[in-house]
Amino acid sequence: MSGVSAHRTALAEEKGAKKVRSDASVGGSALPPPVTERIALIADRDDDDADDVPDGEGAVVSPAARVDLVTLDARYAGATLTPARGREHARLVANGKLFGWGERLPAGAQLQGLSPGRTVIVARWPNGRETSLAIDVHGVGVRDGQGRAVDMARERASLQRTPPARVDLDDVDQAIDDPDALRIVVTSPEGASIGPITVESVGADGASLDSTADVRLVRTKCGDDAPAELSCLATVPLRFVVDDVDRRHALVAARSIKAEVGGAIVVRDAKGDKLQAIRVAGPRRTAAGPIGRYRLAIRPIVMRLAPGGAPSVGGTDAGAIAALRQELAVASATWGQCGITFGPVAQMDVKVVNPPPPYLVALGDDLGLPASGGSVRLRVEGRPLTFSTKKGWSTRQAALELARVAEKAGLKAAISENARISSGAAPSVDVALRRADGQLASAELLSSSDATMSVSIGGVDLSDGLQHFGDTDSVAGTLEERALVKAVDDGDPRTIEVIVVPFFGGGGRIGESFIGSDGSSMRNVVILDRAGVRAQRTSLTLAHELGHVILDEPGHPDDYGIDTPTLLMDSDASDASPFGPRRLLADDCARAVRQSGPRSRIPLLTEWKLSALKYPTR
Ligand SMILES: [Zn+2]
Repeated sequence: MSGVSAHRTALAEEKGAKKVRSDASVGGSALPPPVTERIALIADRDDDDADDVPDGEGAVVSPAARVDLVTLDARYAGATLTPARGREHARLVANGKLFGWGERLPAGAQLQGLSPGRTVIVARWPNGRETSLAIDVHGVGVRDGQGRAVDMARERASLQRTPPARVDLDDVDQAIDDPDALRIVVTSPEGASIGPITVESVGADGASLDSTADVRLVRTKCGDDAPAELSCLATVPLRFVVDDVDRRHALVAARSIKAEVGGAIVVRDAKGDKLQAIRVAGPRRTAAGPIGRYRLAIRPIVMRLAPGGAPSVGGTDAGAIAALRQELAVASATWGQCGITFGPVAQMDVKVVNPPPPYLVALGDDLGLPASGGSVRLRVEGRPLTFSTKKGWSTRQAALELARVAEKAGLKAAISENARISSGAAPSVDVALRRADGQLASAELLSSSDATMSVSIGGVDLSDGLQHFGDTDSVAGTLEERALVKAVDDGDPRTIEVIVVPFFGGGGRIGESFIGSDGSSMRNVVILDRAGVRAQRTSLTLAHELGHVILDEPGHPDDYGIDTPTLLMDSDASDASPFGPRRLLADDCARAVRQSGPRSRIPLLTEWKLSALKYPTR
C-alpha cells in the first residue's frame, strides 16, 4: 500500500502556528488564508501498475499505482479542498477513485501530483475554519542522450549497447551518441527542492540489484516551452549495464548501474522513498519499432561422457547444472540488450543425460544417391531386422520401407529428412528406432547389398569428442551430431536445445549452432564444448551461438569486411574487457524480432508483458 506521508513536511502545526502568508502572486481578489502545511508531491508520470498508462492519467488509480500518492492528514477529513491556484498540478483520489475539488473529504483521501508546479489549496471545515496548503509538485523524469524526454510509462530504459566512453560530467546539456544512456531530470517549482537523489536498479523479481548513492544534480535548461516558475536539474547520462565488467570500467564507473530486462530503474530521495521509476526492456528505437520484453525458450542439456558416467562439465551432476545455469545467465543478460531474456535462470531445468546408443539408421548419408536394389540386414535390440530396397528408390522411399518393417517387428520408427548438402544428389534421411517402451533402440548393420544407397548407423561416442561438421556437411550436420541432437530433440521447433558435450573432435571449435534457414530437420540447436562453458565472459560463446539461431544468420559481420571487435557476433574477437565482443546493435535487435519474433515463421520469441513490480522499501 502507500499513503506514507513521505513527502510531507509539516510547516507548522495548527496550534500556535506562525501566520505564514502564501506568496502574493495568488490570483483573484481575496488572499487565501495562511499556509499551515507544505506538501511535496511528485508528478506521477510513471507506471507502477504496468498498464502502459501514466499513473496520473487514468480515471482510476489501481492499488499498485498508489505508491506515489500522499495521504492527507486525518484532520482534513470532513473538510473541503479548493485550489486557489495551480489546480492542474495535482488531483484528489479516494480509494483510487478521482474525487472532486470542493467535495467533502473522506478519511484516507490522497493527493496525486500531475505536473510540476505550485498549487495552493484552501481547506474549509464545516465550522468555518480555513487554512491553506501549499503543494510543490516536482517532476522526476528521464532524458535520452539527445536531450529528448522519455515517457516513463510508455517507454523503457534499455541496456547498454555502446562501449564505455568519456562524457563531460558537468555539462548536463551535452548531447551524446549513446542510444541507451539516460539522464534523470528533476523539475521543481522555483525555490523548492527534493534534495539529493539516489538511483536504484531493481531486478525482474523485484529484488534490489544495484544502486548508485548520491547522484549529483546539475542545473539544466527545463526546455523551451517550460513555465518560467520551474527550475531543472539533471544527472550525468546513466548507463544500465549487464555485469561488473561494464559496471566497473574506470571511464564509466561513476555513471553505470547494473540492470536487467523486466526490472526497473527507481529514483529515490535521500530518505530512500521512491519518487519515480522506469521499467527496463528492449531498445526504444529500432527499424522494427520499440522492443519490449521477449522470452526465449531454452532446453539446456548436459551430456554424460558415457552412459551413467560423469557429466561433460562440472564434475558432478549438481556442478554441471550450476555451470550451465551460470553460462545461461550470462547469455540471457547479454541478449537483454535486445529485450530478450530466458526468464529466471536459477529455476531452469537443466537435464544431465546419457549419450544415446547407436539408434539412428542413416540412408544416403554421403551423397543421397538413389537405391539400385538390394537387401539390408540389421540387428536391432539383438534381433534381426531385414528390409529390401528397389532400383530407383529415393532415400525417403527406403526409409519408409525400413519404418514399415521396424513397426511390424514391434519397434517405433521416426523418419526425418536432412538438408541436402552442397555436393549431394538428394537429402539423406534418418530413421530413429525406439523400443516399444519409447527408449532408444540399439542397432547394428550386418550387411547391405545395395550398391549405391549407403546405409550407416549413427550413435554418439564422446570419448574421442563429437565429430563436428565441416564446410560441406554443415547444413545437415555429421551423423554423430544428428544422432546426438535427434536423441534429445523435443520436436518443438520453438524451443532451442543447448547441449553441452565434453569437446569437439579435431579441436579448435568451442561451439556451433544449427539454424532455421538451413532447411534442416535439425534446427535451433546449439552445441557447446565444455571449454565454451568455462570461457565465460571472455568469449560469450553461448550468447554468440544463440545469436546465429535468433538472428537466423550463419555469417558474422566481419565476414563482410566490417571488423567491429566489440560486437557479440564478431567471429574472432576475444577480450574480457568492456571493449570485447558483447554488444548488439539496434539492427541486430530488429532482425531478431523479424526472424524469430511472434510473427516469424517459427517464433522462438514470445512477447512477455511487464507486470507490476513491488519495489523494495527501506
Ligand atoms: Zn559464429
